[in-house]
Amino acid sequence: MDKPQTDTNTNFKLLIGGKLVAGDATMPVINPATGAEFAHAPRASKAQLDEAVAAAKRAFPGWAATSVEDRRAVLRAIADRVEAASDELAPLLVRENGMPLANARIEVIVFAGKLRACARKEIQSRVIEVAPGWQAEQVIRPLGVVAAITAWNVPLILLGSKLGPALMVGNTVVAKPAPTTPLTALRIGELVADLLPPGVLNIITDANDLGGALTSHPDVRLVSFTGSTATGKKVVVSGAGTMKRAIMELGGNDPAIVLEDVDVPEVARILFDSAFMNSGQACIATKRVYAHRAIHEALCAELGKLARAARSGDGFEEGVAFGPLQNKAQFERVQALLEGAKKSATIVAQGEIPEGPGYFVPPTILKDLPEDSPVVTEEQFGPVLPVLVFDDVEDAIARANATTYGLAGSVFSGNPARARAIAARIEAGTVTVNKTIAFHENLPFGGAKESGLGVDGGQHAFAAYGQLHIVDGGR
Ligand code: NAD
Repeated sequence: MDKPQTDTNTNFKLLIGGKLVAGDATMPVINPATGAEFAHAPRASKAQLDEAVAAAKRAFPGWAATSVEDRRAVLRAIADRVEAASDELAPLLVRENGMPLANARIEVIVFAGKLRACARKEIQSRVIEVAPGWQAEQVIRPLGVVAAITAWNVPLILLGSKLGPALMVGNTVVAKPAPTTPLTALRIGELVADLLPPGVLNIITDANDLGGALTSHPDVRLVSFTGSTATGKKVVVSGAGTMKRAIMELGGNDPAIVLEDVDVPEVARILFDSAFMNSGQACIATKRVYAHRAIHEALCAELGKLARAARSGDGFEEGVAFGPLQNKAQFERVQALLEGAKKSATIVAQGEIPEGPGYFVPPTILKDLPEDSPVVTEEQFGPVLPVLVFDDVEDAIARANATTYGLAGSVFSGNPARARAIAARIEAGTVTVNKTIAFHENLPFGGAKESGLGVDGGQHAFAAYGQLHIVDGGR
């Protein structure tokens, strides 16, 4: 696909109460591959946020009263409409996010897939045989207005994963995408506005200034949040006054433990694909590797080969596998981590990046770092992978667990039973054996420790987006 020519589009609109409206202000949107402004997005005011929540509240009783079949049909119609607009949405996503066009196309497909997966499922209710002659009925009822707040790394996947269960259960939604990737969500709002009753889905965009108002709003019943742990903590505090439900999908510092009996090139490929997916900007990316001393050098060498061969560039260029970091703040943060690490680490290998003003960081493999190096202890969220050594597996497990994060992790061994026994001891929501994490509609997903609250995926998502309701008929 050719790079689109229209680079000054100011025509994006908020969706509030079924109407497409201009923001009370506008804000620039930057293409991270060039560092240049390419569009303007509406910037909602606090008054517009209040209108969006009020519209969602008004729409709630009607939407909650629709049949599950009707809601399935709406979710499928949204999925079809969005997928049909892939030729427009995918390039727009490349421009606002930086990811390669092939990845952007997958994002559109995954967005639609998330909605269809919810539409296929039953929202389980059951009769509980409490005791002989005593039955109670258990159902999941909608909560009300859901605030869906998302990060910039995979904007459409995150939006789809919230809209699917929220709408299917019968809630209404105020979605707020990240300020640096507002456009694809707004365009989706425009595309699907006529498929939903007014107010059931509202989309507002901000300059990182409305999150507090949305998450403390008394008429919001659930905050479904994906973002950093630091912001997540503020969200929980903000909702405490009205005891809001919260689904928090937060940061990670996912360890991989590689034992001495692995096929090194094969494991290197799996780890590289995980650590560098989306240029390292993935919550579930492998963020640090603990390799047994017997294979550490060989693993570094294989990872180094892959890093050197990595092709970074503008997501519209043919053959580019790695885009820039999504925004200037993240670019500067990862650069600072890399500069800091260079003082004590050895650079095994770095890929090449284009010259020029884009937010590119070369895919980098590091070794010989101290354990307290910030690139090991913090979530780097960028294409820089530390590969550390261990001699004793007990020590590797202790170091893997020595973090406040607990999103995911992985263990690699030629002996899967041995790997599973180690996996059972990693403090994370999901630990994989001889592979890294993959999402599936039937697989629950949630973070341990400070990586999250609540569980998403499958029936867990419906439970999380609803209120458990018991009608006890008595005995
Ligand atoms: P962020 O926390 O800075 O922002 C996330 C969202 O929160 C944005 O929409 C932002 O505008 C909004 N926000 C900012 N201040 C707010 C406030 N006070 N109240 C409410 N909302 C507020 O995160 P980010 O930098 O956009 O995203 C990167 C982070 O997201 C990483 O830590 C990554 O691991 C995490 N992430 C987690 C998952 C997961 O499923 N666990 C998935 C993707 C990304």
